[in-house]
Amino acid sequence: ADEAEVAPQVPKGLRGVRNIVAVASCKGGVGKSTTCVNLAYTLSQSGARVGIFDADLYGPSLPIMVSPEYGKSKLVMDPVTKELQPVEYEGVKLVSFGFTTEGSAMMRGPMASGLVDQMLTTTDWGDLDYLLIDMPPGTGDIHLTVGQSIPITCAVIVTTPHKLAYADVAKGIRMFARLNVPCVGVVENMSYFDGDDGKRYFPFGEGSGERIQSEFAIPHLVQMPIREEVSSGSDEGVPCVVSDPESEIASVLRGLGASV
Ligand code: ADP
Repeated sequence: ADEAEVAPQVPKGLRGVRNIVAVASCKGGVGKSTTCVNLAYTLSQSGARVGIFDADLYGPSLPIMVSPEYGKSKLVMDPVTKELQPVEYEGVKLVSFGFTTEGSAMMRGPMASGLVDQMLTTTDWGDLDYLLIDMPPGTGDIHLTVGQSIPITCAVIVTTPHKLAYADVAKGIRMFARLNVPCVGVVENMSYFDGDDGKRYFPFGEGSGERIQSEFAIPHLVQMPIREEVSSGSDEGVPCVVSDPESEIASVLRGLGASV
């Protein structure tokens, strides 16, 4: 389809965005937000223009992960255009409910998805190569709203090696398939750690990422190690520095950028 045909469906503030990438997990606590933030800063360091939309209203983690001045940055609405202006941190544009005066929400599903839709579609994102969406865990109202109100280019699914994670991931992949969004990669986080003895340990088991990749024909699988600095970095509001596995997924997305 040419630009003119698709343009009316895209909200005004998103027209300068080339790729919208949903970063999703089906369980909480697997490292989805960490992956999303690291991906964003990896892409940004390689020269791309990047934004992150934190779609988790109930427990927005973006303001804690990327801002050492937690609680001070606030979103501003342009009084004339009524558009939201993202907060910016080290060159990455950020929108999160955590950057509003309310901080986090206590509301029912339909209202929450309405609010997500409003924040996502009334933000003036400017020109971006990538807008990463940190999806809430699970497969609920907000996912459908996001999937239906904006054109998502692709999804990256974050999981852990635990056998229990498998069923949830499968559910997530099917949900994106229903929304016609291709899953380009699976990130198996907390895959392993390298011991001081030079051996590699797999405390949560092996093979689950590969099983998902082959069963659902996902083009890329990235295994990320357990690393202390990832955890302390996100607690302190300093996005973790680029590492090889993370740049691998970043290069997947860069390839995508070139082809879109
Ligand atoms: P989710 O978004 O899936 O709920 P988070 O990204 O908030 O998960 O991560 C949960 C916790 O695990 C955070 O404290 C984070 O710093 C930590 N964490 C995530 N990935 C790693 C990793 N590879 N190594 C060490 N700690 C990690």
